[in-house]
Amino acid sequence: MAFEIPEELKMLRDTVRRFVYSEVIPLEKELPVDTVEIPEPHIGRLQGMAKEMGLWCLDVPEEFGGPGIGLFGQVIVGEEMGHCLWVLTGTSTPIFGGDIPAALYESTEDQKEHYLYPSIRGEKKSAFGQTEPGAGADPSMLATTAVRDGDNWILNGTKIFITGGDKADFVMIFARIPGTTGRNGVTCFLVDKGTPGFKVARLVEVIRPLYPSELVLEDCVVPDANRLGEVGRGFMLAQDFLTHGRITYAARPLGMASRSLKMAIDYSKQRTTFGRLLAERQAVQWMLVDSEIELRAARWLTWDAAFKAERGEDVRSEASIAKVYSTEMVGRVVDRAIQIHGGLGVSKDLILERWYREARVMRIGEGPSEIHRFIIARNLLRD
Ligand SMILES: Cc1cc2nc3c(=O)[nH]c(=O)nc-3n(C[C@H](O)[C@H](O)[C@H](O)COP(=O)(O)OP(=O)(O)OC[C@H]3O[C@@H](n4cnc5c(N)ncnc54)[C@H](O)[C@@H]3O)c2cc1C
Repeated sequence: MAFEIPEELKMLRDTVRRFVYSEVIPLEKELPVDTVEIPEPHIGRLQGMAKEMGLWCLDVPEEFGGPGIGLFGQVIVGEEMGHCLWVLTGTSTPIFGGDIPAALYESTEDQKEHYLYPSIRGEKKSAFGQTEPGAGADPSMLATTAVRDGDNWILNGTKIFITGGDKADFVMIFARIPGTTGRNGVTCFLVDKGTPGFKVARLVEVIRPLYPSELVLEDCVVPDANRLGEVGRGFMLAQDFLTHGRITYAARPLGMASRSLKMAIDYSKQRTTFGRLLAERQAVQWMLVDSEIELRAARWLTWDAAFKAERGEDVRSEASIAKVYSTEMVGRVVDRAIQIHGGLGVSKDLILERWYREARVMRIGEGPSEIHRFIIARNLLRD
C-alpha cells in the first residue's frame, strides 16, 4: 500500500521540522543533557510560539477547539517533534501541549469544564494511574479499592511508576470495586492533587531523568461526580486510550532514530582513522544501512497502524506490531550511532547517551514488548 501524505499535512510537517530545528534543538547546547523541565523563559517562549503558529494541541478534535489532525497526522508530525531531546521524552511540560487523555472527551460536561478544557489550554497537567506494585503488565490484578459511600467513593491502594504523578493537577486512578475479579469492576476516578488521603510517597529513580512517582491513597474520599465513565467500565476506558496511545508512542522513536542516524552519517563522513574516513569502512556502512532499513520499516508499520485506525479498523494487532518494532528499533539505531561516535557517543556532550536510556524505557512503558507479542500471537493464532 502506498501512503499519500496530503499537501496540507506536508506543510504542517515542514513547519514543525523548521520550528524544532531553529527554536528547540539549539537549546540542547545550553542546557544539561539530563534536563527534564525546560526552564523559563525558554519554555514560555516556545509554548507561546507553538500556540501562535497553530502547533498547539494538534491532536485535540475540532469540536473541542483543536485542529484535530487525526492519528495519521499525529504520527507524521510526531516523528518531527521526536527529533529534539525534550519534545516527547522526559518532560512533563510539553512544548506543543496535547497528549490529552482521550477518555476525557467522553466525560460529563462538568468534568470537561474542570479537567478537559484546562488541560487543552495547558493550565492543568494529568497523569495516568494504572500500574501498582502487584499489577503491571497484567492490570486484572489491580488491588486498589473503591468503596461506595453515599455520594462519594473511598479509595485505598498504592500506584507505582506513574509518570508526572508528582506534577499532576489530577490523576486518573483505576480502582476495583471489592468483590469483583479480573477485568470487571475496575472503575476510573479523577483524583485532584491535594485531596486528603492522596499523596506522592516518593519518586522512583529510574534509568532516565524523568522519575515516575509512587502514589498512595489512604481512605481518600472522591465524589461520585469525579468518576470517569461507568462503574466497572474503567478497564475498557483504559484499553481504548492505550490502543491509540500505542500508535503515537511508536512515532516517537522514529524521530529519535532518524536524527541519531543522521548524526552517525555526518560523523562518519568527517572522522578519519588510519588514513580513511569512517564512511569508507564497510563495517561502518553496514551499521548505517541496517539502521536505515529498520527505520524505514518502523515508519511504514507505524503509518499503516495510524492509517487503518483513522479509517475505524480494529488495529489492536497493528498497534502492537508498530509499538514493538519501533521501540526495539530505536534502541538498535541509537546503539549503532553511539558505536560510530566512539567515546564521544557515550559522553554527555551528545544527546545519544540520554536517548539510549530513554529508548530502554520504551520497551517497558505502554506495555512491555512481550505483552504486545502476546497480543499479536493471539490474533495470528485465532481460528
Ligand atoms: C519510566 C516508566 C514510566 C511509566 N509510566 C507509567 C504511567 O504513567 N502510568 C502507569 O500506569 N504505568 C506506568 N509505567 C508502568 C509500566 O506500564 C509497567 O512497568 C509495565 O506495564 C510492566 O509492568 P511491571 O513493571 O509490573 O512488570 P511485570 O508485569 O511484573 O512484568 C515483568 C516482565 O515480565 C514479562 N512478562 C509479563 N507478562 C508476560 C507475559 N504474559 N508473557 C511473557 N512475558 C511477560 C515482561 O518482560 C515484563 O517486562 C511506567 C513504567 C516505567 C518504567
